[in-house]
Amino acid sequence: MEADLKQINYAYMSTAPARAEMTAQPTPAPAPAAVMVLNANAAPPLGHEPQRMTCPSCQNVMQTRLAPRANKNTHLLALILCLTGLVCLVPLPYCLKSCRSLDHYCSCCNQYLGKAVN
Ligand SMILES: [Zn+2]
Repeated sequence: MEADLKQINYAYMSTAPARAEMTAQPTPAPAPAAVMVLNANAAPPLGHEPQRMTCPSCQNVMQTRLAPRANKNTHLLALILCLTGLVCLVPLPYCLKSCRSLDHYCSCCNQYLGKAVN
């Protein structure tokens, strides 16, 4: 027992670099696991028409409700119209469907389901 302790101390005191070499054994790096996530439940992209789908929240089969919403491009266009002196045209981007994004909501529980893909 004492001899073992002495050996350990001796090895620690005198051969620290050698010990570091011993501990730095080349460990095989774990091979990066190829992770491929496939979402089998991925919903199809939502279009610009109401979609018939199953709500992931209330599980009802329903027709989605569309709600146009002003996005950053709408505000940017309004700002540009304002800065160029066309103040009377500022409400135009907020009225045009093409300048706003469409959000799909569940018609039963009003759960947000996604944005229409352009
Ligand atoms: Zn729902």
